[in-house]
Amino acid sequence: MNILAIESSCDETSAAVLANGHVLSNVIATQLIHEQYGGVVPELASRAHQQHILPVVDRALTDANVPKNELSAVAFTRGPGLLGSLLVGASFAKALALGLRIPLIEVNHMQAHVLAHFIEAPKPSFPFLCLTVSGGHTQIVRVDGPLDMTVIGQTQDDAVGEAFDKSAKLLSLPYPGGPLIDKYAKEGNPLAFRFPMGDMPNLDFSFSGIKTAIMYFLRDNIRVNPDFVAERLPDICASIQHTLVQMLLTKLKRAARETGIREIAIAGGVSANNGLRTALMQTGAEQGWNVFIPRFEYCTDNAAMIAMAAQFKYEHGEFTAQDVSPLPRMSF
Ligand code: ATP
Ligand code: MG
Ligand code: FE
Repeated sequence: MNILAIESSCDETSAAVLANGHVLSNVIATQLIHEQYGGVVPELASRAHQQHILPVVDRALTDANVPKNELSAVAFTRGPGLLGSLLVGASFAKALALGLRIPLIEVNHMQAHVLAHFIEAPKPSFPFLCLTVSGGHTQIVRVDGPLDMTVIGQTQDDAVGEAFDKSAKLLSLPYPGGPLIDKYAKEGNPLAFRFPMGDMPNLDFSFSGIKTAIMYFLRDNIRVNPDFVAERLPDICASIQHTLVQMLLTKLKRAARETGIREIAIAGGVSANNGLRTALMQTGAEQGWNVFIPRFEYCTDNAAMIAMAAQFKYEHGEFTAQDVSPLPRMSF
């Protein structure tokens, strides 16, 4: 069985071919145009998807060495994401499925981030908890089966990826700043500066307070020393990263305690963060967890994870009708 999957929810145009659970190709075109604007510009994202989608799909089929007429289904991201971006992938997938007379499969992008864990061994066993941390979401998901997931905690305001990116912007680092904070943090002292972690009830998160705290912290220090950021960049980045990672781990520990689940996974773009990966492995060793961390290329947006989710749906006979439309705020 060969599944072609298309991902176009935000600023990555991606296509992948999965053959019976094995990734044959996973092509990702990242849109660099947004860097000069300091964030994703929706209109430009849609146009770039429109330009990239045909060459990216072609390349995925060529790399996989699978001709179109040997495809069993076409999958696409229905949501959540930017409407104009989602429309490009959805329309393309619908047309292709119709033309080839094969089934169409819709996929929830956030479920796909979780199911990225089933692309390669070691795979978590059910039930497990997944901390899904990305540019638009911060969730603790209880996963009872491939298509049986419940969000048991989530952010009430900004996503943690947004907190990374906005902090980076305050430090005048280019967009997306998350990976740069990670890079500079490696040479800094995580305990050099302290930021308030705030406190949310239950398993929910809030990241808007820390963003404001960092803004005032920088303003006050720059007033005293105009070169403060240039002189202390590694320490500032390490301290911000440490704070954000501790906020995530505090809730993850609480979730593990409350559910009694010790199979713990992370997913989404921010799971590429080295500070988070290291801290999770340490915490896991202390708490007796089985920890699952995906390979870097399956953390950020990619179509291989969409294909993986689609394969589970295919096995359950969950197909989508041609009159489907994207859902920018799709939940599960
Ligand atoms: P969503 O999945 O919620 O729709 P998205 O698709 O934009 O949002 P992803 O591509 O999964 O999100 O992740 C992008 C985010 O991950 C950005 O905020 C980026 O800064 C962050 N990120 C990527 N690598 C790192 C890293 N090494 N350290 C910190 N943040 C990172
Ligand atoms: Mg992205
Ligand atoms: Fe994503």
